[in-house]
Formats: sequence, structure tokens, C-alpha cells
Amino acid sequence: MILGFVEHESGVPEETSLEMLTMARELATDEEAVLCAVVFGDEGAALKDELGPYGIEEIHHVTHDRLEGYAPEGWGESVAQLVSDLGASTVAAAGTDRGHEVLAHAGATLDAPMATNCVDVTGAGESYEVRRDRWGGSLVEHARLEGETKLVTAAEHEYPIEEAASTTEPTVNEFTPSLEDAHLRVRVERVETADEEGIPLGEARVVVGGGRGVGGPEDYDKLEELADLLGGTVGASRAAINEGWRPHDDQIGLTGAQISPDIYIACGISGAVQHMVGCKGADKILAINTDSEAAIVQKADYAVIGDLHEVVPELTDAIREVT
Ligand SMILES: Cc1cc2nc3c(=O)[nH]c(=O)nc-3n(C[C@H](O)[C@H](O)[C@H](O)COP(=O)(O)OP(=O)(O)OC[C@H]3O[C@@H](n4cnc5c(N)ncnc54)[C@H](O)[C@@H]3O)c2cc1C
Repeated sequence: MILGFVEHESGVPEETSLEMLTMARELATDEEAVLCAVVFGDEGAALKDELGPYGIEEIHHVTHDRLEGYAPEGWGESVAQLVSDLGASTVAAAGTDRGHEVLAHAGATLDAPMATNCVDVTGAGESYEVRRDRWGGSLVEHARLEGETKLVTAAEHEYPIEEAASTTEPTVNEFTPSLEDAHLRVRVERVETADEEGIPLGEARVVVGGGRGVGGPEDYDKLEELADLLGGTVGASRAAINEGWRPHDDQIGLTGAQISPDIYIACGISGAVQHMVGCKGADKILAINTDSEAAIVQKADYAVIGDLHEVVPELTDAIREVT
């Protein structure tokens, strides 16, 4: 059995989990194994209709009166107990913070090997060959994963979301784990939603990013103006966030948001690898930088070598003239 840990928001599966199911289904097909899902949360059972098109045959819905919110050790322990009960050969999750955290706890309990951020997994039985992203995608590692139970996560946005050849009608099985206080040391007690204005970074078709080269919080007005004109939104590098020029939600990169716009206009950003991880999904990159040798200029599709304080207003005026 291949067991996929499916993350969801109010009963709607996350896209990254659907990507992971493409990987998991390939493994299930190769191994002629049944593909099942493990889900948490009150609305978990509502995923029945959502997961049928992806070939899920059984949904294991974890319920426990002490698991109201996210609890990494509690969820990991629950997955481990379920794996032992079902005899699953593989557990797959999306390569998200939560996917990694839950599988790492499950792996520690099961004493099972884990490969994160996989871009390709092949093999069957007790041995898999994996290719996985390391160092934010700047290195691809080839490795072998061996074990009676194996844990794998799918790198975000590497697998397409694909439905199965035929839709299934999953059965929903309730599973109540046996948990102790130690499993609930860390848990979410309340959720506060951010005051998000405009288009979220992850969904924007145009992103205008500002880095240390912007020089201060007030100069982001120029970037806001350009973004507004193009129906986009503003993001920032970690250097700008650390300076306190922008809120943390604006950060693009390894420890920030992953963006996939049609165009990313990066202003005064050097292009450190940790930043590029966050914008590698952009269709096109336009760099505006005074340094023609900056890493981002080398990686961009287009570049303007110049002072952003002059280039951005000129660009905004030029676009305004033709729109
Ligand atoms: C564990 C870890 C995680 C990290 N995660 C992230 C992350 O998620 N996101 C992230 O962004 N970084 C991250 N970083 C930091 C990253 O390594 C870089 O330090 C950071 O991205 C640099 O930001 P920057 O490009 O704005 O600044 P700098 O590297 O200082 O670059 C500023 C650029 O602006 C240009 N410039 C200066 N003045 C002008 C001007 N007037 N007009 C035009 N161009 C100008 C310069 O030529 C330069 O290229 C992380 C680092 C670590 C160690």
C-alpha cells in the first residue's frame, strides 16, 4: 500500500498534495499497490469526492479529541500507528513544511528512511532510486532509499497535477490513534489571519520585487505603483525584510513565498540562491540592477542595467502611455 498524507483547507486538497498524488500514483502503478490517503481535521471525510479523481481507494481519516488543531508530533505519531496497522510500504507527502515535519516525526517513530524534495522516484519493493533537490534546487542528488517502509516527499511544483485514468469511489475509514501528553507538546492553539491586501504573492501574475537596492521603505511606493498598473503585487528579498522595510509576508525565497508569475520584475536584488529558489517558477524574469555582474542579471530573461530609482518610474510612465 502507498499512503499519501493529504493536506487540505476546509476539505479542499492543497495543490501541492495533488502534485504529490501524481508521484504516489506512479509508485502504486509500478508496484501494483493500492493508493490510499491519510487526512486530518474535521472536514477530512469531505475529501471523498475530491480525491476519487486521483485514484484514491481508501481515505483514512484521523480523529482524536485532543487533535483539534495541527500538532506535529501527534500527527506524525498517528501516521506511524496507521502505517503499522495497515502495513503500508511507502508514505508520501508534499514537500511542504508540514509534509516534512509530519513525515520526519513518523519516520523517527518507525525508524524508517526518508527522502525529501524528490523530483523522481522509481523502483518497487524495498528499494527506490530517487533524484531529489538539495540546497534549494541548486544541486540534484541521486540516492537509493531502502527499507520495509519508506518515506518520500515530492518537491513543490515539480510534479504536474494529473487525474487518474479512472475515478474511484474511496471508502472512508475513521482511525483513532493512541496518544500521550508527550505527543501533544507542540500544537496550534489559535490561528490569526494576516491583514492581506491585494493579490497574494503566490497567485499574482505579475510580481515586482524589491531588495536592499531599494534603499528604504518609502521607495517601495515606486514599486507599488508599477505593480498596481500591471495588476500585480509587490514582494521583497530577505535583506529588505530584515531591514524592516516590508512585512515578512512579502518575502520571496527559500524561507519565504514561492512565486510563479508570468513575469517577475526584480529591482535591486542580487539573486542569491536562497532568493532564486522562490522565483524559479516565474515564466520570465526582468532584472533591474546597477551591477551587470549581479547573479540575477545572469539568470534573468531581460535586464536593465541602471538605478532602479530612475528606471522604475520611467518604465511605469512608458507602460502608462501605451495602456
Ligand atoms: C538560510 C538562509 C535562508 C535565506 N532565505 C532567503 C529568502 O527566503 N529570500 C531571500 O531573498 N533571501 C534569503 N536569504 C538571504 C540571501 O542569502 C541574501 O542575503 C539576500 O537574498 C540578499 O538580498 P538582496 O539581493 O536584496 O541584497 P543584496 O545581496 O545586498 O543585493 C542588493 C542588490 O541591489 C543592487 N543595487 C543597489 N543599489 C541599486 C540601485 N539603486 N538600483 C538598482 N540596483 C541596485 C546591487 O547591485 C545588488 O545586486 C537566506 C539566507 C540564508 C542563509
